[in-house]
Amino acid sequence: MASLDPRARAILQGLQGYKPGTPIEEVKRRFKLKSVIKLASNENALGPSPKALAALRAASSQLNRYPDAAGSALKAKLASVLRVKPDMITLGNGSDELLVLALRAFVDPGDEVVVAEPTFLIYALQAKACGASVHVVPQRDHRYDLAAMKRAVTPQTKIVFIANPDNPTGTYVTKRELSQFLSGLPASVLVVMDEAYYEFVDAADYPQTIPLVNDAPVMVTRTFSKAYGLAGLRVGYAVANPNVIAALEAVREPFNVNSLAQAAALAALGDIAFLAKTRKVLGEGRRFVLKALDALRFRYVPSAANFVLIECGPRAPELAQALLEKGVIVREMSAWKLPGFLRVTIGTMPENRRFVQALKQCLSPSVKVKNKRGSK
Ligand SMILES: *Cc1c(COP(=O)(O)O)cnc(C)c1O
Repeated sequence: MASLDPRARAILQGLQGYKPGTPIEEVKRRFKLKSVIKLASNENALGPSPKALAALRAASSQLNRYPDAAGSALKAKLASVLRVKPDMITLGNGSDELLVLALRAFVDPGDEVVVAEPTFLIYALQAKACGASVHVVPQRDHRYDLAAMKRAVTPQTKIVFIANPDNPTGTYVTKRELSQFLSGLPASVLVVMDEAYYEFVDAADYPQTIPLVNDAPVMVTRTFSKAYGLAGLRVGYAVANPNVIAALEAVREPFNVNSLAQAAALAALGDIAFLAKTRKVLGEGRRFVLKALDALRFRYVPSAANFVLIECGPRAPELAQALLEKGVIVREMSAWKLPGFLRVTIGTMPENRRFVQALKQCLSPSVKVKNKRGSK
């Protein structure tokens, strides 16, 4: 990439942008492959909700019109599903945008933001772009250390980001851990609960945070990108008390969520069958992949979400590359400072089988001969 224009804000110097998963078409072209599967971005392998697709077709005839800037129909439906008032919801161009809106609304240059490591990279990237000073609190045993994150809070702290479940570890903060964290937290802090994988979680001790938003300084974000299969459309929502929502509304652009995204999200919310199938396919797929990893003696982090973080040791980058050459895109984790790990999204059963088979082939001695070091 070209270097930064010298007139750009000084704070942007040295900031590295987010590097997304490699697209399928690029891998097909590069390795001359007919079929490539992407298990790198935690997308829904079943495709988009069929009801969302039908709504998209219907809505496309109105593309000459601006979207509903208030997102009224989608907000009303969300409000009834979530049992909150519509003024406790705002919509975003993906939940990514909601995280940025929270930073823009609550953080001045020099303020502090607390994040875990490893976690979703957008928190620290965007906080730095706002001129915040980012306090990074390492995880313990691949789990958020909320006690340490609470100790990192100072009078200058404006936002604490909590991904629940976390990406890339797949672990979650329990109800008890969260309530201990929230108790006695200074009122000057906003806690952003990023629940991008909410719909996948089964655990009984996973906290339900929406009932908390009126009494605690909590803002919850969720997305249509993962369980609802609409990552390409970019739509998510935030739930918080009306005053927090008013602050987010003050900094958002009027047409931040396009009309197709609003229509598709509304229909997807009503597609109970698709959500149920998504959860079922995940449950089966995750059991299958973990069993295969056990058999191959891989260690991995127990995941509440639709991906699994696998410990591969120093061979992780080679393994990711070898899988790529076989048409299986997974995520190599050095950007998260987890160099020995791969993150693999659970796909459809044919995709999961293909991943496991490719992994076995990559581990077999005949393939290892191809190593750069030439070892056998
Ligand atoms: C995928 C993901 C998001 C979602 O992003 P969208 O912008 O809604 O597509 C947010 N947070 C985490 C932790 C994620 O993994």
